[in-house]
Amino acid sequence: MCEFCHQHGEGKKWYLKAEHYSEELLNDLNRRHFIREFLQKYGNETGAKFEQDFQKAFQGPAWLKKLIYHFQERRQRRDHFGQVVPLEDLAQVMDLASSIVRVPCICRKMNKGRLDAEYCFGLGLDAEKLLDIQEVFLETFRRGPEDAPFDRLSKEEALDLLRAFEKQGLIHTIWTFKTPFIGGICNCDRADCLAMLCYRYDFKSFFRAEYVAEVSGDACIGCRECLALCQFGAMGFSVMDQKTFIDPVRCYGCGICRSACEMEAIQLTPRQDHPLACNLW
Ligand code: SF4
Ligand code: SF4
Repeated sequence: MCEFCHQHGEGKKWYLKAEHYSEELLNDLNRRHFIREFLQKYGNETGAKFEQDFQKAFQGPAWLKKLIYHFQERRQRRDHFGQVVPLEDLAQVMDLASSIVRVPCICRKMNKGRLDAEYCFGLGLDAEKLLDIQEVFLETFRRGPEDAPFDRLSKEEALDLLRAFEKQGLIHTIWTFKTPFIGGICNCDRADCLAMLCYRYDFKSFFRAEYVAEVSGDACIGCRECLALCQFGAMGFSVMDQKTFIDPVRCYGCGICRSACEMEAIQLTPRQDHPLACNLW
């Protein structure tokens, strides 16, 4: 289990604990202040500026980069940390959240200046519960005066969207707003998401999933349909066997490769049971 499962989940999956979605946590003034500042900061920044900060860290000596990463990663874990979560666990997450709202993706806004990429879901973030920070939400997400920034979804609607996002190769991640409160589900893509930019710079902003994927050699027919979906470079193809294989050291356990496989040859298994992947987060 990941560090948060031990710290916040009593050794079970921390994101399946109902209190991490509670109004009590959302009403904490410190947390609300953080959400306000988060939206104000990232609502007005660009992805290029975000990347420049990484490049600066890489220009200095190695010890300085290590020091900066150490403190920034600690802060990230405290304030806004993520984890890859596959679809079936997200179905359980949605039962715990009091509501699901669809909002534009702030990363894609920063990178493309576009608000029409509605790839993110807020959990429990209804307009009426956020009166004191509603204005900041409107400034960040509203496209026009008539536009409602909180488009409420049923669980089934949200799951249908998540399945469609998997076909596009998008990875599901959950995010804290002052850990352990979980306020959002993102659908991340290598090109535009800041979480994936952190991954490229080897900065830990999210944990791997509690799972790792495996290909069943008997079921795989070698069609290669799944290969293009993996954003973590974990899939390969054996010319000799004419089958796909997955490197458990690189696999983040997102499970999206499964969405391409008509043979159902790819399964997720618990990371804790895998001899090579159990300590990789
Ligand atoms: S999509 Fe399925 S059957 Fe095709 S190569 Fe991938 S694992 Fe094998
Ligand atoms: S191989 Fe692992 S990381 Fe890659 S898509 Fe499949 S589950 Fe995700």
